[in-house]
Amino acid sequence: MTDTPGARLERTGRTVLRRLAEHLDESVAGGGPAIRLTPIGQLADELRLADWIRQGGMDADSVAGFVERYLEAATRLHHPGYMAHQVAVPHHGAALAELIHGVTNNAMAIYEMGPAAAAAELAVLDWMLDAAGWPRARWPGDTETREPRGAGVLTHGGSLANLTVLLAARATAAPEAWQDGVPGDLALLAAPDSHYSVTRAAAIMGLGERSVYPLEVDGRGVVRPDGLEDSYRRALDDGRRVFAVVANAPATGTGLYDPIEAMGRFCREHGLWFHVDGAHGAAALLSDRERHRLRGLELADSLIWDAHKMLRTSTLCAAVLFRDERAFDRAFQQEAAYLFYGEDREIGVDLITRTVECTKSGLGLKLFMTLAFLGEEGLARYVEDRFELARRAHRTISNRPGFECPYEPESNVLCFRYGEGDDRQIAIREALLREGRYYVSSTEVGGARYLRLSIMSPATDGSTIEGLLDSVERIVERL
Ligand SMILES: *Cc1c(COP(=O)(O)O)cnc(C)c1O
Repeated sequence: MTDTPGARLERTGRTVLRRLAEHLDESVAGGGPAIRLTPIGQLADELRLADWIRQGGMDADSVAGFVERYLEAATRLHHPGYMAHQVAVPHHGAALAELIHGVTNNAMAIYEMGPAAAAAELAVLDWMLDAAGWPRARWPGDTETREPRGAGVLTHGGSLANLTVLLAARATAAPEAWQDGVPGDLALLAAPDSHYSVTRAAAIMGLGERSVYPLEVDGRGVVRPDGLEDSYRRALDDGRRVFAVVANAPATGTGLYDPIEAMGRFCREHGLWFHVDGAHGAAALLSDRERHRLRGLELADSLIWDAHKMLRTSTLCAAVLFRDERAFDRAFQQEAAYLFYGEDREIGVDLITRTVECTKSGLGLKLFMTLAFLGEEGLARYVEDRFELARRAHRTISNRPGFECPYEPESNVLCFRYGEGDDRQIAIREALLREGRYYVSSTEVGGARYLRLSIMSPATDGSTIEGLLDSVERIVERL
């Protein structure tokens, strides 16, 4: 029996896996460009996409050519020169989990459709709650406890995670909103540099973008504790009811953390829901050296944490975490459907009751397998190394004539510019992109344009940074 579905999977899979392994090793060694941008129409032609769609017939021989060309055009995240965005450089544990999910497709909206996938999800959520210092979640069959448990769910991305949290926060302030629609006086407070998904969630929930009141910040865009009261008053003076306050941990653009402890205390004093957006930087919780950046997290009501940023997990895998399960009960309906017990009471969890999504991917398995291979120690070391390299890069860059950094990094994200003028920074980035060896992004800090590094690849080191600066100098000589 050589032509069973399993045999075909194995035959074609071996070919694909061999190409992927070569691509991975080449990328880690700095081979090939980190990025190469081909016009999309040309790429579609070269990949013969329309032909394949019409004719089908891809097999163990032809798949190799296709994958090879596809990988040539792929942005290489494992490459040392990849320093642009906060998208994880996935561990092969996550890659294998994607394959397992791809074959089994256990979507676990209901427990029957993926018992092992659901168990993996609950296990990694418990691990994350524990890292946050919050109570672990209730598992079906657990004996009742007096203290409230934590709760969480995995969702397809931090943006959905923020929406989920804000739904729970809104339900706490305005329980009638789910049935009757949104009252017009709700407001939330967030830094101007908070992720755009916060404002977007407010718009999606029918609150309107204008319901998001900016917190006062310093020149680096970090929330000022002494400005909290004024921001709050401004909303109250407009006749608003503030239902949540959002902290960046850290802000996407700068990688700088808001003062979580001070904001948490303020929220406790005023009875406000406090949400920590740790999409990128909750990973600091894993490190004894970096955990202090989230000091005060015990004062928060909710936390989001993207495994597909700093936890070496492929996109997407975002955790929504609640310190108190009862708050999560309210997110999607008023009657507590936190655990959809029914007849399965002692058996499993129907995750459908906790998410915007109905059908989901096997998100828990990806993070679980990354952890199972690397261990929490391995992940902690990765986070520490990348944060440390950013600090070293900051020293290297600041000491080089003509280069300037606007602040000291607090994570693996840092900014710099070479010479004066916003246009020059953009021209440098465009030239770097054309060369393809170093892939960097750019952002504004205090109204000025900077080049921005997000040091994600384990292959990036001090010599990568030196090489980047050499390239920047060469580019400017030619401008
Ligand atoms: C990346 C990010 C998000 C959004 O997460 P996605 O998974 O890209 O949807 C939200 N908040 C912060 C602070 C982020 O860095």
